[in-house]
Amino acid sequence: MKLSARPYPPITMMEVGGKPFEPAPDVAAWVEATFLDDASPVANPDHAHLANAHIGFLWTAIENNSKGRRVIGQCETGSPQGAMGKWSRARAVQQIEEWFGSVPDFIITLDAAYCAQCGDAEFMALVEHELYHAAQDVDAFGAPKFSKSTGEPVFVIRGHDVEQFVGVVRRYGADASGVREMVDAANRPPEIARARIEHACGTCQLRVA
Ligand SMILES: [Zn+2]
Repeated sequence: MKLSARPYPPITMMEVGGKPFEPAPDVAAWVEATFLDDASPVANPDHAHLANAHIGFLWTAIENNSKGRRVIGQCETGSPQGAMGKWSRARAVQQIEEWFGSVPDFIITLDAAYCAQCGDAEFMALVEHELYHAAQDVDAFGAPKFSKSTGEPVFVIRGHDVEQFVGVVRRYGADASGVREMVDAANRPPEIARARIEHACGTCQLRVA
């Protein structure tokens, strides 16, 4: 089975007067078909809890640098976080609803300029890196948490942990993770491609993938 073609950001974003953010429903569809659909050759069961999750993807034309590194991706919960007044929060929620129809479980923002020119493996490693942040909460015993009212998974943002590194390294190679010495999975050839990513993720402030 062939992988579905990778989505690209709209060229107009990179032009003068282009919008700083554009919703990317085609990325959501591509993620579903590429990583979540069991029939995909690169489906990743590590993301199984996201099967019914609403993930809003955004391209951004805003260059973001942090601690000397360029931030190329970020994963956040869908509802606006942080200290905000009532009107600021309501305004932010309205914007999010206009982009995604409703407030999603997660919002993943991708640097449009980077994604327009990076290789397929780098793009996949970046998107999967952000997906690994989109986790299901666990209870005190480590069992996956489900909402008592809806029965749906309870979602949280997860930081990097060894398990996550193993998953990305297994699939994209140790160079993409920057943690070659950490994991045995690196001893096996990567399942998808070798990806070398030198940029940063805004969520973890660590090297992407
Ligand atoms: Zn990250």
